[in-house]
Amino acid sequence: IRLPAIKNEPCYDYAKGSLERAKLEQALKEMRAKAPFDVPVVINGKEIRSGKVEEQLISCDHKKMLCKYHTTDSKELVQQAIDGALQAKDKWEMMPLYDRMAIFMKAAELISTKYRYEVMAATMLGQGKNAWQAEIDAAAEAVDFLRFNCKYAEQIYSQQPPENATGVWNHTEHRPLEGFVYAVSPFNFTAIGVNICTAPALMGNVVVWKPAPAATYSNYLMYKILEEAGLPAGVIQFVPGPAPEMTKQIFAHREFAGLHFTGSTFVFKNMWQAIGENIHKYKYYPRIVGETGGKNFHLVHPSALIRPAALQTLRAAFEFQGQKCSALSRCYVPKSRWEEFKAELLKEHAKITVGPVDDLSHFMSAVINRQAFDKITGFIEHARKQPDCEIIAGGQYDDSQGYYVQPTVIVTTNPHTKTMTDEIFGPVVTIYAYEDNQFEATCDLIETTVEYGLTGAIFSQDREAIVLASNKLRHAAGNFYINDKCTGAVVGQQPFGGARASGTNDKAGSATLLYRFLSPRSVKETF
Ligand code: GLU
Repeated sequence: IRLPAIKNEPCYDYAKGSLERAKLEQALKEMRAKAPFDVPVVINGKEIRSGKVEEQLISCDHKKMLCKYHTTDSKELVQQAIDGALQAKDKWEMMPLYDRMAIFMKAAELISTKYRYEVMAATMLGQGKNAWQAEIDAAAEAVDFLRFNCKYAEQIYSQQPPENATGVWNHTEHRPLEGFVYAVSPFNFTAIGVNICTAPALMGNVVVWKPAPAATYSNYLMYKILEEAGLPAGVIQFVPGPAPEMTKQIFAHREFAGLHFTGSTFVFKNMWQAIGENIHKYKYYPRIVGETGGKNFHLVHPSALIRPAALQTLRAAFEFQGQKCSALSRCYVPKSRWEEFKAELLKEHAKITVGPVDDLSHFMSAVINRQAFDKITGFIEHARKQPDCEIIAGGQYDDSQGYYVQPTVIVTTNPHTKTMTDEIFGPVVTIYAYEDNQFEATCDLIETTVEYGLTGAIFSQDREAIVLASNKLRHAAGNFYINDKCTGAVVGQQPFGGARASGTNDKAGSATLLYRFLSPRSVKETF
């Protein structure tokens, strides 16, 4: 074992008057003063200003721009990115794991110490996270992905060798895939961008990385950190779109060897289909790895402790404006405990404030962009019109300054109403009160209502009920929580991912994911 013991990156509390808070506020001020930044495409370590420019706005203050970013304006640039990656491949995959790990371990150190406040500020202003949400993402989770992936890689490389017959020496070589990996990351976690491109690279692959438009600046900073840590030119190409043309070109390439994706179910299914249509072009069966949507649940049992269940419900539904794949969106409460649950929920809901990220007192900020705002408010208006739905808190929105949507709680008597079945990806939770004697049937309802299977939680003090729910809800959640909220998986503790329409369940933050980017070679030598 060559790595030091890997532990989760600690988080600060950003208490008033603390040094960390002062540093963060300073970083935010500086970033605001210097914006808009100019973000290039980076191919083979060279910054390219294509002139075809898009804008990343500050979502809580959308008249201001965080950065202008250049996109690949031509097929030639995309081709250059692929060719350059393939040229970098030989040296990179032959580099000892130890040296590849050293680069990513150093990147983790740089994020943790030198760039912590800068990547947090970029995640706050660009993606609309409050300080604590930005920290668990851009500081803690990004660092954890880098360090824990090294630990898992080391475990994979040092596993027990195969058996040997007399006069024979067998071993397994951990080859990367042949060709390049296309990495496509979402806006909602800066850390996911880091994992999307570095997990395949750690295993010796070369990567063309398309970050999400709404996370361009934070992702670019992460790319620069990887460079500073010693990542050789061409190993990861930073290519911010435009997505449809670039994706089409990549999927038609003979050397396309794998997709590492986090984003919507719709886009992932379309990508899978496009890959299928191109299958005869490839040298190699591409590995397809994706984490997609969710329609995540909390199930409260009559035996539950109501106050913690209500508090965790608010956190899971409204932290980062509900824009996590894991966010809570449907909640099932027994009728006998409903009034108590509702009272706790409304009492705490009244304390939630929504506002710009620079003011650290706010629990929530704006949703990511106009498109998200329109989609989320469309769901709210739909619910408002339903005779079987009632909005008991929130329901207002205002896009004059930023894309602000108030945390919205809908109560329904119809467990199949649209806001109970469709992914909203915003601060809206729908609650259904079930008959106490229908607990088992409610488990069946949860398991079968939606096409997704990402996260879910049971709140109960009754072990038999926990066992029943756990058995009945086997496929409704790839991450299942008992007496805790359905968001906030920690790298190294709860490997993350779901099946069904939620993804290939290869678990971010685990050896399983890394195996997907390997193509082992068995070697037998006879003496
Ligand atoms: N891993 C995150 C969580 O457990 C969610 C990641 C995502 O939104 O894709 O909350």
